[in-house]
Amino acid sequence: MTVHENNQHENASILLIYTGGTIGMMENPENGVLEPLNFQHLKDNVPELKKMGYAVSSIQFEPPIDSSEMGPENWQKLVRIIAGNYQQYDGFVILHGTDTMSFTASALSFMLENLGKPVILTGSQLPIGILRTDGKENLITAIEIAAAKENGHPLVPEVCIFFENNLLRGNRTNKVSADNFNAFRSYNYPPLAHVGIHIKYDLPQIFHPISDKPLNPHYSLDRNIAILKLFPGMSPQVIESILNIPGLKGVVMETYGSGNAPCEEWFLDMLKEAIDKGLVIVNVTQCIAGAVEMQRYETGHKLLEIGVISGYDSTTESAVTKLMFLFGHGMSAEEVKEHMNYSLIGEITVPENARL
Ligand code: ASP
Repeated sequence: MTVHENNQHENASILLIYTGGTIGMMENPENGVLEPLNFQHLKDNVPELKKMGYAVSSIQFEPPIDSSEMGPENWQKLVRIIAGNYQQYDGFVILHGTDTMSFTASALSFMLENLGKPVILTGSQLPIGILRTDGKENLITAIEIAAAKENGHPLVPEVCIFFENNLLRGNRTNKVSADNFNAFRSYNYPPLAHVGIHIKYDLPQIFHPISDKPLNPHYSLDRNIAILKLFPGMSPQVIESILNIPGLKGVVMETYGSGNAPCEEWFLDMLKEAIDKGLVIVNVTQCIAGAVEMQRYETGHKLLEIGVISGYDSTTESAVTKLMFLFGHGMSAEEVKEHMNYSLIGEITVPENARL
């Protein structure tokens, strides 16, 4: 691993965008339920922010939200904030609930074309007002990473998730634990940095824009996407009702192992009919690691034959938001299929011999 530890960059200016999530929540004394609080509460609990030596400005969602409420409108809002403040800041830190953080990170990675500055999402499992909180460390380290430069250039010009001790490419992540501090993983792409006593960046893994084209923010997303998770014993009615949702354009189908599904005739016929009518069906694996290889087993090959396309080693979060993004740009089913076959911003690994 190539590591780079010298990341201190004095006078960096960082914009902290507080959307909500556990990090800024407090227990309601009446019913014990965690509720989002405003940014002042968060700042009061992290006096270290003042000592950091960076110019940290903040902006907050009104009201702050639990990340279960996240979706295209809020992603557009985040893109608007970043694009509107892009020139003034060296980096951006988004405080976000953990539940849907991987979806937001994936969506932003597609929406912020030509990103040349760090956008680091973080949050916490315990509210920042609680003594054992993981929020303080996550917040402080995320700011350091967003401020890190080498020869005047940002070290990590990507949309990332920083959590506990790993900096991960955002569109490769899953939330894997509802209670561990180490809540995120990127099984199909190595961490961009490990954080312990030092922050060790793995430079060859980090994406750096080849040209210095200006940021090109995108706002259009199409919500006509569904997830179809297969399970043994699924009834034809379930498949049929999903595939016949009016206006549906894309389905992320979570299959078994390396992309396998039952070979029953009724099942394949239903999928084929939907594909022939113009639905894009993307095959991703239910496994937490590894990739779809439809050529490997007969049960996968049948899918390939009827026109299901491979999601390669994509996460479901990334495949869903990529479909929203591509259809949001008015692409036809054929154009979407073509774009799903290559990596837009490091979200999939496409094998050399991939079938187009
Ligand atoms: N429910 C919270 C949220 O996602 C959980 C968290 O922040 O960890 O907003």
